[in-house]
Amino acid sequence: MSGRIELKTREQMRVMARAGVIVERALAAARAACVPGARTADVDAAAAAVIAEAGATSNFLGYHGFPATTCVSVNEEVVHGIPGDRVLAAGDLVSVDCGAVVEGWHGDSAITVIVGGDASRQDRALVAATDRALWAGIAALATADRISDVSAAIEEVADEARLHPIDGYVGHGIGTQMHQAPDVPNYRTRGRSPRVRPGMCLALEPMLVIGTDESAILNDEWTVVSVDGSRAAHWEHSVAVHEDGIWVLTAADGGASRLAEHGVVPVAP
Ligand code: MG
Ligand code: MG
Repeated sequence: MSGRIELKTREQMRVMARAGVIVERALAAARAACVPGARTADVDAAAAAVIAEAGATSNFLGYHGFPATTCVSVNEEVVHGIPGDRVLAAGDLVSVDCGAVVEGWHGDSAITVIVGGDASRQDRALVAATDRALWAGIAALATADRISDVSAAIEEVADEARLHPIDGYVGHGIGTQMHQAPDVPNYRTRGRSPRVRPGMCLALEPMLVIGTDESAILNDEWTVVSVDGSRAAHWEHSVAVHEDGIWVLTAADGGASRLAEHGVVPVAP
């Protein structure tokens, strides 16, 4: 996505953090609903209930006609899966992507859950490495000169794990809209990327697959699948950059527990 980068005040970031923690809670409910025998629509309903109870609204519902509050993508589905009657089985990898809006400010976050808690070693490694790639990217953002420093940190973890970022799907700016400039690629790209500046809020979201980085869109016109059928994982957080540091907006602790191993201490806006 190109265009002007919207810079937020710290006060605006604090409103985004309110949206963000609602998303975190919605995803916790969605995670709890990812049990063998549940339908993907049940996972969606669990998240939707949290957003409604909090008095927030969904930014996914109705987005270019999207019919649900979450994207629920199973196994070879990478992102943008539509929740429905599909029944989850033990060992499925379920990526749940969710967002919420408070006073016009957006939050966006995603998790990948292993249904029933157990999966093949390869699948567990995929989920763990994608999560690690996200936090490496967030940690890099704390000292990044340019967005490309974040992309490189994400790709480095993918490379080490011999996984591949899906080509063409990237993170993004977030604020008064869910998707804004600048793009935040999950891989190194040619050319100069924007400088990281105080006031930026960015959604980082590595989407890694075991096999080829090529994807296709199903006939439902939403669901993105890996072309070779290999499994995918997706983790996402929305992060604010301000004069004194970074803060993970979609985590109640600002990301402190996960950034400690990177030597980064988040600072509330
Ligand atoms: Mg998302
Ligand atoms: Mg996003």
